[in-house]
Amino acid sequence: MFRGILIDKAGDQQTVSLRNLEEFQLPEGDVTVRVSYSTMNYKDALAITGTSPIVRSYPMVPGVDFAGIVEQSSAPEYRVGDKVVLNGWGVGEKHWGGLAELAQVPGEWLVPLQEPFTMRQAMGLGTAGYTAMLCILALEKQGLLPGRGPVLVTGAAGGVGSVAVAILAKLGYEVAAMTGREQEADFLRSLGAKEIVSRSAYSDPGKPLTKERWAGAIDVAGGHVLANVCAAMQYRGVVAACGLAAGMAFPATVAPFILRGVTLVGVDSVMAPKSDRLEAWRRLATDLDVTKLETLINEVPLEDVITEAPRLLAGQIRGRIVVPVVPAD
Ligand code: NDP
Repeated sequence: MFRGILIDKAGDQQTVSLRNLEEFQLPEGDVTVRVSYSTMNYKDALAITGTSPIVRSYPMVPGVDFAGIVEQSSAPEYRVGDKVVLNGWGVGEKHWGGLAELAQVPGEWLVPLQEPFTMRQAMGLGTAGYTAMLCILALEKQGLLPGRGPVLVTGAAGGVGSVAVAILAKLGYEVAAMTGREQEADFLRSLGAKEIVSRSAYSDPGKPLTKERWAGAIDVAGGHVLANVCAAMQYRGVVAACGLAAGMAFPATVAPFILRGVTLVGVDSVMAPKSDRLEAWRRLATDLDVTKLETLINEVPLEDVITEAPRLLAGQIRGRIVVPVVPAD
């Protein structure tokens, strides 16, 4: 038996509880992993609270990320005792996820734990941190360089945003951090933000084009925020869009794209190919100050994950939630 959070559904009614599960219930996969740490991402909180239809089959163990130790493997690339990390691939949505003591997945979904990170630090990053790095790689691929001008990060006090601010600052960019939480300004400055931008300035419907401000932007919000960010980009600026914290809609005009040559790049972490994942993890290892990463981590025991989920959705968590499951180094 092993402990895990289980989401189930009877009729329209979703239930969620921490309970004992049996190994035979694990989904198919050629690698079994003892989960050392998992995380709670925005998507996990949506799944646990049933706020959005994240879960595609029931019963489901949530948790889109885990780091752990291989316990059994018939996959050629992994042996018992290897430390591995999983992000995405529909885990926690249609395949049992990381918020349980055991997980079983196809070996090709795993990546080796990237040195110098510990498993706890890898989950301090988790899908949010790895997505932040994918966004930065996307901006670089469109030619963004430090010195081109300020880069705006929305949802800056959240998981993706806080990691993005820390990395961009270390890379030498002039970072502007947008937040709806004024009280997090000092925290964002400690991560390297040079300027704090109030979310309220971007939340309402705006003009098709406004003053050219940003050379680059990473947006976790969508909705009017993304539309206003696009409208405020410099000529040939680049926006990486990865989230919908403000909404799924994109109420924009084509003006920034056809009059200023702005590029809008979509970033998906879930089905990203393995080569992109390995590149992102390698770059995280060199471009993120690990002492800053430590300041982002809030540990939440497995027993408290269900009650913390609404706080995460309400934007009340700073940085990242790490869940020690069967902690190991
Ligand atoms: P968090 O909950 O940690 O952070 C989200 C942040 O967004 C909040 O902390 C808040 O920051 C800001 N925010 C909240 N509500 C609003 C609003 N109404 N308008 C504007 N900003 C708002 O989530 P994550 O950082 O983990 O994820 C952020 C988004 O990115 C989510 O939508 C998530 O689904 C998406 N995502 C997408 C991925 C992909 O593969 N495309 C992968 C990972 C995440 P502040 O208080 O500083 O304003």
